[in-house]
Order: sequence, then structure tokens, then C-alpha cells
Amino acid sequence: MGDYFQTIVDVDATAEDAARLGAKVVAWLVAEGIVEAEPSNCVLDGDGRGHAAGPRYGTAVHDDTYENGGLYVHVGRTMFDSGQGHPEAVTCPHCSARTELTLADQPWEPDDEAWGPFRGAIRGWDEGDAEATKVGCRSCGRAAPVDRWRWKDDFFAFGHLGFTFWNWTNLRDAFVAEFSPRLGGHRTVELGGKL
Ligand SMILES: [Zn+2]
Repeated sequence: MGDYFQTIVDVDATAEDAARLGAKVVAWLVAEGIVEAEPSNCVLDGDGRGHAAGPRYGTAVHDDTYENGGLYVHVGRTMFDSGQGHPEAVTCPHCSARTELTLADQPWEPDDEAWGPFRGAIRGWDEGDAEATKVGCRSCGRAAPVDRWRWKDDFFAFGHLGFTFWNWTNLRDAFVAEFSPRLGGHRTVELGGKL
């Protein structure tokens, strides 16, 4: 057993915008009956700030016959990940060259030489140090901030605003597609996993 999550990350929201946009989306979800307005202790590590599934949450998911948790809104600088395992590969935003991040003969083990610079850049991103977030590409030699590299299977997403649905079955594509317009046309990334 474990807890499953699906997170929709707004990768364009700034630190200043995140709280306002998060509240706007929650107001929409409450109005639709997808989550409850009153925060409660319904999600893992939610500190009582989760929003339990509302009476019409079935309109957001493929199958509403299972037990369900609720929504937790992350506001603030966050590296979102898929919960378990290790990223397999990452693609340069300049030249589209792909860097493998695991050992060829032991694909469950990180390749420390390839992964090291990204690990350091992620730490830089966490600390808000813009210069330390840059990683140079081995193919084209240009550098890009770690949050602009494209992670295989959307293993990581970097942002200031994310919506995590705990223990809901697969979100409907049409539901996920409604987030971007409600976030002012911001790009969104969906990732999921298990803890
Ligand atoms: Zn490159």
C-alpha cells in the first residue's frame, strides 16, 4: 500500500503570483463541488490545510468508486518530483541532446558523473541562487537553468505553485486542461507517483 498523488504544476507562476492564483483555482474547484471549501486534515503532510473531495469530485476523475483523499496546494519555491526512484534522462533545452543519468549496465543506479552537476543545480534552485542553478550541456556547451531542462517522464518540475491530488484515480484530461486557462495561460506540467 501507499499513497498515490497527481500534481499539476504551474511552471510560469512567480513567487508573487502563486498565492493569488492558488486561491483562484481553489475557489473554482469549490464552486464546482470538486473539493470542500473548509480545509481539513485529509492529505499526507497537509497540516490540516488539505481540501477533501467534494460531492462532484467524480467529474474530475475517471473512476470515483475508490476511497479518495484530497487536494493540497503548494505555494512557494518547490521542486516537485515523482516520489520514488531516480530520473533516467534529461534533455537540453538548447540543442535537444539527451543526457542519460543512470549507469548503462545498472539502470537503477545514478551515473554520478552525469547526475552530479544537476544535483548541485537543484540545490541552487532550492536556495534561490540563480547562478548556481545553471548546468552546462555536454553536447552544445551552452548552459541552461535546471528548471528549463526537459526531464524524461516529467520526473521533476520546478515552480512556485502546484496542486497535488492525493489518492484520486486518474484525473480526466479535460479537467487537467482547464488549469492553464484559469492560471492566465501559464504552462502546466502534470506528474504523479507514489509515496
Ligand atoms: Zn545542448
